[in-house]
Amino acid sequence: MPGGPAYVIVGASLAGAKAAETLRDEGFDGTIVLVGEEMERPYERPPLSKDYLLGKAAKSSIYVHEEGWYAAHDVDLLLGTTVTAIDRSGSRIELADGSAITYDRLLLTPGASPRRLDVPGGDLGGVRYLRTAGDSERLGAALADAGQVVIVGAGWIGLEVAAAAREQGCEVTVVEPEPGALLRSIGPEMGETFADLHRAHGVTFRFGEAVIELRGSGGRVAAAVTSTGAELPADLVVVGIGAMPNTALATLAGLEVENGVIVDAALRTSDEAIYAAGDVANAFHPLLRRRVRVEHWANALNGGPAAARSMLGQQVSYDRVPYFYSDQYELSMETCGLPEPGRYDQVVYRGNRESLEFIAFWLADGAVVAGMNVNVWDVTDDIQALIRSGRQVEIARLTDPDVPLTDV
Ligand SMILES: Cc1cc2nc3c(=O)[nH]c(=O)nc-3n(C[C@H](O)[C@H](O)[C@H](O)COP(=O)(O)OP(=O)(O)OC[C@H]3O[C@@H](n4cnc5c(N)ncnc54)[C@H](O)[C@@H]3O)c2cc1C
Repeated sequence: MPGGPAYVIVGASLAGAKAAETLRDEGFDGTIVLVGEEMERPYERPPLSKDYLLGKAAKSSIYVHEEGWYAAHDVDLLLGTTVTAIDRSGSRIELADGSAITYDRLLLTPGASPRRLDVPGGDLGGVRYLRTAGDSERLGAALADAGQVVIVGAGWIGLEVAAAAREQGCEVTVVEPEPGALLRSIGPEMGETFADLHRAHGVTFRFGEAVIELRGSGGRVAAAVTSTGAELPADLVVVGIGAMPNTALATLAGLEVENGVIVDAALRTSDEAIYAAGDVANAFHPLLRRRVRVEHWANALNGGPAAARSMLGQQVSYDRVPYFYSDQYELSMETCGLPEPGRYDQVVYRGNRESLEFIAFWLADGAVVAGMNVNVWDVTDDIQALIRSGRQVEIARLTDPDVPLTDV
């Protein structure tokens, strides 16, 4: 193992693995330790609710690096190892087996955990969550056998699982307390497009209703009861009601924590030797001029390397336009920006919404704040440039497919 300074990464995650890769790419020749509580080496989660869930993608395709990469790059990968505490005064992390590892710089990439459905019957068999590869394998097997599936929550995970369940021939009901799908992430306009797509594929939505109880027999779930008193038969319940950043270690260590670990634009926490990236980081975003905690793949992919450069003392201002993607049935999309309700005043479209080939733009005061390209490709750079510019645009040109996005 190399000597020199020790850079330790908590969370053998996408962000953590990409940070380790960047440290070596940038010539860091000290010790790198990547600690993860899962038994798997770092992998990507998006396939877990898509092809991998349906058994269409091989396990080898989900990993961030080949198995031999860690040893070949002198990255000490400790799997099945839970970090239990950060001892800041001793500059060391403590592990579940009682041992400790000292660090010169520490990166926190522990991700997030599914929010639990806290209702009577919530721990019955057949009630499932989706975060890990193992969750995906078990859910995939359960979907293959299930008849009636109730999905709690019409967010990204709920809807992607709904699409997979329909593909497996299950009857699917999605229960969501909000009045529409994906409301908090993309607002009602495009949320309705996704709801319509799912309805066209036979999904039933129960908006404005919450699951308040799960009933079962023989320890297994048999029905979901909603706030209107409806009892929905279910042999499988999938809970997708959001994720909570894994902040326990940071909180215990006295770092500044609020909806994630607070970091500056250089991804540095309130302790200058400790950094955070990925789902756990609530980072000041120089372009948006506010803190954002982005739970998306691209933020882990790019945030890990940015944190690594920052740890090496390089000037870093992490200002990537947030980006995420989703695939559901025949709809594949990419979204740039954060089109949350309250942050835009208008949605306009370029292209054909009926044939699901269009770009939706969210605007605030005449400037583009977000864009979603649906089955239209190679436009994200142009959309990001529009968002980045912050300038007012002419709606007629923005919505005219004959005007190049670069000339809007
Ligand atoms: C099913 C699913 C589908 C998704 N689909 C999409 C998509 O289509 N598009 C998109 O943009 N994003 C998607 N995402 C989001 C994306 O996968 C996440 O944003 C990304 O995985 C975050 O990566 P991360 O590096 O922050 O941490 P994670 O991937 O969450 O990894 C964190 C790791 O740290 C470990 N850990 C936590 N605490 C400790 C500890 N104390 N000690 C040791 N290890 C610890 C965890 O066990 C975990 O292995 C999806 C997420 C899920 C769950």
